[in-house]
Parts: sequence; C-alpha cells; structure tokens
Amino acid sequence: MNQPPKTNLNTVSVPDDLRHVFLTAQEYVKNYFSFVQSDPEKGLIKFSGERYILVRASSMSKEFFDMMALMYKDRGKEEARNLSFNFLFDIAHSIGKADAKSFFSKMAVTDPIEKLSAGPIHFAYTGWASVKIHPLSSPTPDENYYLIYDHPYSFEAQAWLEKEEKTDFPVCVMNAGYSSGWCEESFGISLVTAEIECRAKGDRHCRFIMAPPSKIKDHITKYSKKAYIKYEHYKKIDVPEFFKRKRLEDELRSHKDHLEELVQKRTDKLTKTNQQLEEANIALKVVLKQTEQKEKADKENFLVNIKHSVMPYLNELTQTNLNKEQQSLLDQLEKNIHHITSPLISKLSSKYLNLTPMEIKVATLVKDGVANKEIANTLNVSLNTITSHRYKIRTKLGLKNKDTNLRSYLLSLE
Ligand SMILES: [Zn+2]
Repeated sequence: MNQPPKTNLNTVSVPDDLRHVFLTAQEYVKNYFSFVQSDPEKGLIKFSGERYILVRASSMSKEFFDMMALMYKDRGKEEARNLSFNFLFDIAHSIGKADAKSFFSKMAVTDPIEKLSAGPIHFAYTGWASVKIHPLSSPTPDENYYLIYDHPYSFEAQAWLEKEEKTDFPVCVMNAGYSSGWCEESFGISLVTAEIECRAKGDRHCRFIMAPPSKIKDHITKYSKKAYIKYEHYKKIDVPEFFKRKRLEDELRSHKDHLEELVQKRTDKLTKTNQQLEEANIALKVVLKQTEQKEKADKENFLVNIKHSVMPYLNELTQTNLNKEQQSLLDQLEKNIHHITSPLISKLSSKYLNLTPMEIKVATLVKDGVANKEIANTLNVSLNTITSHRYKIRTKLGLKNKDTNLRSYLLSLE
C-alpha cells in the first residue's frame, strides 16, 4: 500500500494502532467516491465506473418491519419481527461480503486488517452509518477475534427515532449483517454479530460485538455484566445467523427423510407380519379341513360298522319267533339304534345309504313332495320304475315292512 496521506481520519474512529491503515483506506475510498456519474436518462449512478443504486433508508428498516407485521398479523408480532430480521440480515450480510471482495480486488490488498479498513469507510460513504471501533477490540484471524464497535448515525435507528416510536429490541440488523459480512470476507473465518445496545430502544449508542460463533455468547455476557445491563435484557439478545432459513430447511428435510424412512420400515414390517398371518391362516384352514374330514370319516365308519356288524343280526332276530316281551325289547333296541344313528346320517354322503345316482334323484323329488307320476315324467321313466326305486330306497333305509312314511323319514335326515 501507499504511504498514508497526512490528513485527518474523519470518516471512521479507530484505535491509534490502526489509524495508519485506515488513513490509506480513507484516501482510497474518498477518491473512489469523488468520480461520480449520475445519468437519470439512462437510470444509472456510478462511482469510479462502478454502478450503485440508491434506496430510501426507512423502506429497508422501520417501514419494512411495519409491512411485514401487517402481512403476518395472523401469526403474531414476534414471528413477523423474526422474519424481517432474518430477511434483512441475510441481504445485508451478502452485500457486505460481495462489496468486500470487490474492494480487495480494486485496492489490491491481502492483509486482513487492510482488507477490513475500507469496510467502515465505504459504509460511511454509502450512508449506512459511521463506525467507531473501540480500543478493546482485537481483530485477529483466529478464535480470539473480538470486535466491539458503535454505529453512530445508523440509518436504521434513525428511521425509528424519526417516527418517535421506541422499540424494545435492537433494530440495526442490516448494520450488523453488512459489517459481519465484510469482516468475515476480510479474515476468512466465520463471524457473527450481535447489537447489544441500540438507540432505537433508548440506549445511548448502537453498540455491536462481533466474534466467532462459539465465542459470541461469552463476550455478550462479559460485556453486559461490565456495562450493568440487566440479565433479562442481555439473555434475550439475538445473534443473527446467516441464512438461518437454509439451516432450518435442511433440518426439516432431514427430519422428513428420517420420518419417511421410519414409515417405510414400519410398512415393511407390517407387510411381513400380514404375510405371516396369511400363511398361518392358510395352515389353520388346512388343519381345520383335515379335522372336519377326519370327523366325517369317523362318523361314516361308525355308521358302516353299525350297518354291517349290527343290523344284519338284528334283521335276522326279527325273523325268529319272539315272544311278546322279546319283541318289545327288540323294537326298543331298533328305536335306540335309530335314535343314535339318525343325527349322524344327516348331511353325510350317500355312502352309508348306498343309494345309486338314480335313487338319489328319486329320493330328492320324494323329499320335495313330488307325486310318483310326476317323478316318472320328470325323470322320463315309467311309473313302475319309480315304484321299484322307492321300494329299493325303503329297503336301504331299513324301512322295509314298516309304516314309516318315506318322505317324513327323508326330511328327518336333513
Ligand atoms: Zn441500533
């Protein structure tokens, strides 16, 4: 850098050991802003060939907060204020970083303090505020970085004060954003800024502390105790985070991904359980079917045994000469056997009855109350054939030589 000119340092206030560097920067920025070109016909303003835009200060401060409060009135003052804060901080921080880069390149400086020096002066020339860096500051490119500074004439505090509206929160969020953006770019480390006192809320100055994120809370606490700031005030001091919404979005997305993964796992587990249940159900049905078949087969075997091992002897006994008492006992025996077997016969196959397919057809029509002649017509056979079938059915059912009505008996089998 060139030798500093022998003029007063009047656009920024810095500790004595930094004056030399800042005087050089002041000279550079002063010359830079002396070459102005304003051409409303083309809608442009340029300083040293670099295009600038003018923005009315209050519209980026008090009036912006008011507009957001109106837009978000359904969500409450605090949310509206936080949104305004985040939005203005992000914009100002980005501008601070970009302006810093542009100046490093123009001034051809590489040292962090030299890089920093043009920031406050550019800040003053562009109308944001003047800057007063306190002697306790220690701007080093490491974890010990500490900058404590005031922004007298902050455009943001003034916007509130002119409306005579006192706030209960520090309002100079663009001032904080721009200065931390510029310094971050100068020192190549992550830096955050908190405005710990603000004229808009009745304090004597707009005072800021800038430090690495891991150190800022400690510095705020130390300073507040020394300055007798009440705990309930300094514990609420907000430390703006550059693109906080991006971090929140990332967190939200990560939560969403995690939730989707959980849902998928649960769904897979449920699907598997369902499959296992279905398989168990099928197995159970098979077992039930086998049990039913076994039960049916047992009943049929029992009936077949009765028919072949008991009934022939009973019939033979009927043909013998029995006295009255024996006949009575035999009748009772037949009744009891019928009583035991008839519930089992119902719904069983015709295996037990030994009916032919034709006999089953005839028996079904008899059971339905169809007269013999009609049965003969329906089955297209003679009346004699039907009579013959009925005789065989009665024999097979054990009704031969008995008064039992065939239809009634068939109905009782159902
Ligand atoms: Zn302020």
